[in-house]
Amino acid sequence: MAKLDQRKLAPRGRKVKILATVGPASRDPEMLRKLLKAGVDAFRVNMSHGEHEGHAETIRAIRAMEKEFNHPVAIFCDLQGPKLRVGKFKDGKAVIRHSGHFTLDRNPEPGDDTRVELPHPELFGLLEKGQRLLINDGKIQLKVIRADADSILCSAVVGGVISDRKGVNVPDAEIPIPALTEKDRRDLAFAVQNGADWIGLSFVQRPEDLAEARKLMGSYGALCAKIEKPMAVRRLDEILELCDGVMVARGDLGVELLPEEVPPLQKKIVNKARMLGKPVIVATQMLESMIESPAPTRAEVSDVANAVYDGADAVMLSAETAAGEWPEEAVTIMDRIAAQVENDESYLSRVRFLETPPDATTADALSHACMTIADTVPIAAITVFTGSGSTARRVARERPSVPMLVLTPSVRTARRVALLWGAHAVTTKDIGSFEEMIAKGKRMALRQGIGKAGSKLIALAGVPFGTPGSTNLLHVVTLAGDELEKHER
Ligand code: PGA
Ligand code: MN
Repeated sequence: MAKLDQRKLAPRGRKVKILATVGPASRDPEMLRKLLKAGVDAFRVNMSHGEHEGHAETIRAIRAMEKEFNHPVAIFCDLQGPKLRVGKFKDGKAVIRHSGHFTLDRNPEPGDDTRVELPHPELFGLLEKGQRLLINDGKIQLKVIRADADSILCSAVVGGVISDRKGVNVPDAEIPIPALTEKDRRDLAFAVQNGADWIGLSFVQRPEDLAEARKLMGSYGALCAKIEKPMAVRRLDEILELCDGVMVARGDLGVELLPEEVPPLQKKIVNKARMLGKPVIVATQMLESMIESPAPTRAEVSDVANAVYDGADAVMLSAETAAGEWPEEAVTIMDRIAAQVENDESYLSRVRFLETPPDATTADALSHACMTIADTVPIAAITVFTGSGSTARRVARERPSVPMLVLTPSVRTARRVALLWGAHAVTTKDIGSFEEMIAKGKRMALRQGIGKAGSKLIALAGVPFGTPGSTNLLHVVTLAGDELEKHER
């Protein structure tokens, strides 16, 4: 194998991360490479669409790319959850006329502008006159006129274009569907077998939903709770306690609640997750118009920027990269917006407006010290030696002013922190001694182009090495110019 160029993919010029959804517009390996180069840190494989075979191919392509660029990439497998969807249409789509009639039924034949299949038996006989059905993120609003065991006749309060497998929300009814459907269980097993780094759990309602997923997941992978149900908002603290990360899933959240309830919730969820040091993703419709247009609206640009100012760990692209016409452009623009915000001199003070007092642990005291040292003297990076990634999360929680170079022997940890604010991970061999650690930190920083001769680095680690939760060592070192060559000889 040819020697890999260690610097093919320069560290990102931003700390916030980009999670991009893979789909027909991006699953081609060539496009995946373009998206990675343009700024994607983690790819979302959406189990709501496609088959396992195709997803496995996507995962293989991402892993191959990871090798090629020698750069860890997170794979986020997003389980559909008990999401309701319509069936398919003869022409892939149809138009529902305003104030016209439309029927949802149990007939699996392709639909048209009068009817379509609703492949969820639970709903028939449950819905009542006057209840709402919201389709495609609430863009289409139907009201039930009459419902029986086989069909639901509706009037279209708001019509529009409906297409294959569009989502349906039923905010007025309580649907007796378990948190993990049979499909979710199969998809979760697939995700674990295929080495997903993050599992996204959709429509979480109760803390027990997470416990159930965790049981099936085993020790591998991190669990992200998608907050998109009013019930989850009510039990947010308990849910946050049990998950490894959280997503503000604004698409469904804004349908299940009122859209204007979402912005304050976004801030609340971001703050609570940050307080706990768990990565938080802001998702959905961020650059929606770029599905069709090469340039975003000003409002979309502001939305992405404000999520970054809110202090989110990651921002997400959905259909923009999965099915849009401008996937690469969407990533490029998101990257530029984030970099611009982070260059704003008010960025850090805005983000740190949320006080995150350290827990009474040595790890937190030292993480806090990293932040204040980097604010006091010029520091090129904080090099964090970690096995599980826990030290990296505690440092990220402080939102330090400089990048964090995460050095870990665990490729799983390296991948997982791809969604963590400010983390740039490199996998290394196990470290045996203090001297070796310092030498490695210096060498890796130079290789990654993070520091140069004369730059100072902070090294944060736990001795003895390889003992989880042992963070107890903070050392400030200065890079010499010949560090790289010296160690490569
Ligand atoms: P989805 O989740 O794209 O899987 O629906 C995100 C959201 O609801 O916003
Ligand atoms: Mn959703």
